[in-house]
Amino acid sequence: MADWQTGSVTAETPANSTSNPSTDSAPRSRQLFDRAEAVIPGGVNSPVRAFHSVGGTPRFMVHGEGPYLSDVDGNRYVDLVSSWGPMINGHAHPDVVSAVREAAVEGLSFGTPGVGEIDLAQEIIDRVEPVEHVRLVNSGTEATMSSVRLARAFTGRGKVVKFAGCYHGHVDSLLAGAGSGVATLGLPATPGVTQAQAEDTIVLPYNDVEAVREAFAQHGDDIACVITEAAAGNMGAIAPQPGFNAALREITRSAGALLVMDEVMTGFRVSAAGWYGIDGVAGDLYTFGKVMSGGLPAAAFGGRADVMDMLAPSGSVYQAGTLAGNPVAVAAGLANLRAADADVYAALDRNSRQLGELLGSALTAEGVPHQVSYAGNLVSVFFSESPVHDFASAQAQQTWRFPAFFHELLRRGVYPPPSAFECWFVNAAMDDAAFETIADAVPHAAAAAAAASAPEAVRER
Ligand SMILES: *Cc1c(COP(=O)(O)O)cnc(C)c1O
Repeated sequence: MADWQTGSVTAETPANSTSNPSTDSAPRSRQLFDRAEAVIPGGVNSPVRAFHSVGGTPRFMVHGEGPYLSDVDGNRYVDLVSSWGPMINGHAHPDVVSAVREAAVEGLSFGTPGVGEIDLAQEIIDRVEPVEHVRLVNSGTEATMSSVRLARAFTGRGKVVKFAGCYHGHVDSLLAGAGSGVATLGLPATPGVTQAQAEDTIVLPYNDVEAVREAFAQHGDDIACVITEAAAGNMGAIAPQPGFNAALREITRSAGALLVMDEVMTGFRVSAAGWYGIDGVAGDLYTFGKVMSGGLPAAAFGGRADVMDMLAPSGSVYQAGTLAGNPVAVAAGLANLRAADADVYAALDRNSRQLGELLGSALTAEGVPHQVSYAGNLVSVFFSESPVHDFASAQAQQTWRFPAFFHELLRRGVYPPPSAFECWFVNAAMDDAAFETIADAVPHAAAAAAAASAPEAVRER
């Protein structure tokens, strides 16, 4: 699950561990984390990195190469987070590194138009057919924030529909949490978001077309847009059910609202054209980040020319960025996309299946209730008896099994996402040796998950 959603989960020592594996093998990370906590809130610059939901010491990574990360204590891990998505080609891909070097020696930022911006915009347009014009920004959060502003300006309406468990960055209006029932008006999920901002957000259950129809029946004239993850990846991997995205397309079009496809996670990862390349449902606006950044701060939003051209300076909707289209970031993103050929996408698909099968068969062997869930090549594990299709069913899993599972993998040289609600991100650099490490570690992790016991009061969120 997204950073903000896990922020409230308290650190707990993993069940069944007498000593803390995290600290035993990571004394220098421990020292650094103490220093970090003294100067940075919670010691991290994005909450999920703090290991709050698994306990133990976050690793300070100092080196990435191919499928591996190395920490400051000299431990090496097969990385199954891939910087939360960008590293589809593996760490420090030679083409990306040399593109960054070449760009950097020419100058770090000009504050003027640059050649690379055109090439990156063109690459995005060439890959994702419904995208006609693109603007570059610095983060996925900026991309969704600006898309919502644009949708409001274009429609002259105020309300936004989002789905519970979908994360669209830390935009005030998009942090409204889930209410129960149909067409619930959002309540602020975090202090600092005003009631007014939350009230403009309608939070609905994912994969529930009827709820969307009802919300439009009630508020249709006020709804500027529906924003959805093209396939959900921030509550674990949950694919849209057949026809769900198409229904969103039809409902928004007939109500005069826009459909914003958030492909910050899926874009350029699940296929060359992102989730659009899988289901072909066209949004009016798209948001991108992660893969197209190559690992540097870059993101984008784009879509229909008539909507995008409302942006200043061609139109009146203000949006800007001192470092937007930064030449070094743009070079990294372009090189990352250009390195991602058909072989890379075939490898991502293959590697995610292989990972999912390893996890699934080990958990089956240990009798641990689980679902290996896919959305394209996004994969995650839910410790649950029944299939997961929305946030409520994702939350129903036995999350208390996850810390033991996580730490056993970590101890054995595998770096999984430190939350039971995150996708596992494979990369194309994973080779036989990397999979051997995973295959050796997973049975032990499954045994630890099986041996884990539910806390006395299972924490409900
Ligand atoms: C990561 C993510 C964002 C936010 O991007 P940042 O660059 O972290 O601001 C938005 N939407 C989705 C679907 C994401 O996965």
